[in-house]
Amino acid sequence: MGKIIYLDHNATTPTAQKVLEEMLPYFNTHYHNPSSLYKPSRDCRKAIEESRTIVASLIGAEPREIIFTAGGTEADNFAIKGIAFANKSRKNHIITSKIEHHAVLITCMWLESQGFEVTYLGVDKYGVVDLNELKDSITDQTVLITIMHANNELGTIQPIKEIAEIAHSHNIYFHTDAVQTVGKISTKVNELDVDLLSLSGHKFYGPKGVGALYIRKGTLLDPLIHGGHHERDRRAGTENVPGIVGLGKACEIAKQEIGTNNKVKNLRDRLWNGIKNKIPEVVLNGHPEKKLDGTLSICVKCVEGESMLMDLDAHGICASSGSACAAGTAEPSHVLTATGMPADLSHSSLRISLGKHNTKEEIDYVIQVFPQIVERLRTLSPFWKK
Ligand SMILES: *Cc1c(COP(=O)(O)O)cnc(C)c1O
Repeated sequence: MGKIIYLDHNATTPTAQKVLEEMLPYFNTHYHNPSSLYKPSRDCRKAIEESRTIVASLIGAEPREIIFTAGGTEADNFAIKGIAFANKSRKNHIITSKIEHHAVLITCMWLESQGFEVTYLGVDKYGVVDLNELKDSITDQTVLITIMHANNELGTIQPIKEIAEIAHSHNIYFHTDAVQTVGKISTKVNELDVDLLSLSGHKFYGPKGVGALYIRKGTLLDPLIHGGHHERDRRAGTENVPGIVGLGKACEIAKQEIGTNNKVKNLRDRLWNGIKNKIPEVVLNGHPEKKLDGTLSICVKCVEGESMLMDLDAHGICASSGSACAAGTAEPSHVLTATGMPADLSHSSLRISLGKHNTKEEIDYVIQVFPQIVERLRTLSPFWKK
């Protein structure tokens, strides 16, 4: 099999052909600076504003509540630092969780070095945030709660509405990193009741390096990037017109397709059933129901995650152990550790994340070769009892 089987969609997705086609004219024909006053520039400005309307519509927001960024990481940084610094003289405490993406976690750690206080909430064995611990952590200094919508490693979906209710009953801002859910499940900002929401194009068939932060109207935050008057003075820099146009197209496609079929979920369940029936001593991670359709996180006892990845790669299968950002490090995943998993087990973790182009044939091929890979690696393991 010379073909590549791509099963790492939580790391990134292929840019849709329609998205690419929509973007291309904005690299050459419509290269003009959207801030200039002549007609070609006004056309670029118009394209940006149309895209803003489409992005807003996917999440049930108003166009003026959308600020374009250079991806999910920037949106997270902007939300958290923006709220923290805008309210610095008033309040200095932030609450987040131990299983956030590094874009949130490392940002919060940096804020600690700048004099802010941060509480990192624990999670249960499924990766769900403890709401009682959340309530107990709130002080009169708490200005922001930031909890991700779905976790990129486990796929576990958090009780966002409940968290929002707790936050708002204490007059605390609530931000959610929805990078793994926008385009996959409903992320209407009024239903979730969030004040700030991060999204990223490349996680749902849009281009890399472009995303957006939803900022509920009336919410004050300090800018992250200073300079010109772009994005209503909230994010300086000449707009990434092709990227923004591509993000809009990806949102348009997602809006049409969301909830229309169970293909990804069925393939994921087929894969899990195949693995579970053929391989002994495999553990399923994450919440059994409240999780993303395409995510399968497992631990294969007595086999190193990295070894499985290399053998899968040799068969043309792309997967991940832990998060892509943590790959190549010997540290166990901070997410799996937070669920209470012992280090030896989390070293045997594998994350397979499916997308809309995967086929039954691809999944059946994985079900065929993966048990052989595990069997071989286990015969080499001193810990595996034969
Ligand atoms: C991928 C990801 C990010 C980072 O988004 P980029 O656009 O790659 O910067 C942030 N949060 C989560 C949950 C992610 O999966």
